[in-house]
Amino acid sequence: MPDSEITVALIYPSLLGTYGDRGNAQVLQRRLEWRGIAARVLEIGLDQDIPEQCDIYLLGGGEDGPGRTAAALLAAQPSFPRAVNAGRPVLAVCAGMQLMGHHVGELEGGYKGLGLLDVTTTITAPTRTIGELTIRPTGDWSTELITGFENHRGSTSIGPDAQPLGTVVHGVGNGAGEPVEGACAGRIIATYMHGPVLARNPALADRLLGWAVGAPLAPLEMANVDALRRERLLKASR
Ligand code: GLN
Repeated sequence: MPDSEITVALIYPSLLGTYGDRGNAQVLQRRLEWRGIAARVLEIGLDQDIPEQCDIYLLGGGEDGPGRTAAALLAAQPSFPRAVNAGRPVLAVCAGMQLMGHHVGELEGGYKGLGLLDVTTTITAPTRTIGELTIRPTGDWSTELITGFENHRGSTSIGPDAQPLGTVVHGVGNGAGEPVEGACAGRIIATYMHGPVLARNPALADRLLGWAVGAPLAPLEMANVDALRRERLLKASR
């Protein structure tokens, strides 16, 4: 049991909050409190410095312009890469994943990412990818399908220093020619999945929380969470 309150940092929700991903912060806080662990959500505004000692950092989805602005603001925050490189967990969703990478958009009109995750995003698709997205996680951390909702025009390729979050079972995912979705490296988890993704996938939430707490977590049996998962997985299977 941690001896101090767990802090979940929600970065620039006014820019990266278009698709309801702030719900991920609430899920993490509740899943800690249900286990008797004190937790708080720290919303970080555009005019505030990024604290280096938060326990989890969340980046949500946003439109292209706000993604560019968020990347520029974060590039001026040396505490954030220090926290990431120190192994503090990060969940980066959609635009959040894109800006964690090397570059977003076309060479002329695009913008430089933070270079903290080995991905590169182009935004050339003529139409947006919108719909239910289901993936089978890579690695051995979980055997449960991961379900979410995707809404993006970006296509994200993964370099040698990252691996996919999963392989696509239903939907599009990264859309860069291979049937994979998201990207992971170290304690960075990046995905195109909204939902919020942690509301639909408790195992993913608990993976981040296990890193933050630094100890195994007591299991939680939540009938309503399981019902949501079943409903969304059924929706995607039709
Ligand atoms: N604007 C980016 C894109 O369209 C990210 C969208 C999002 O965050 N849902 O690819």
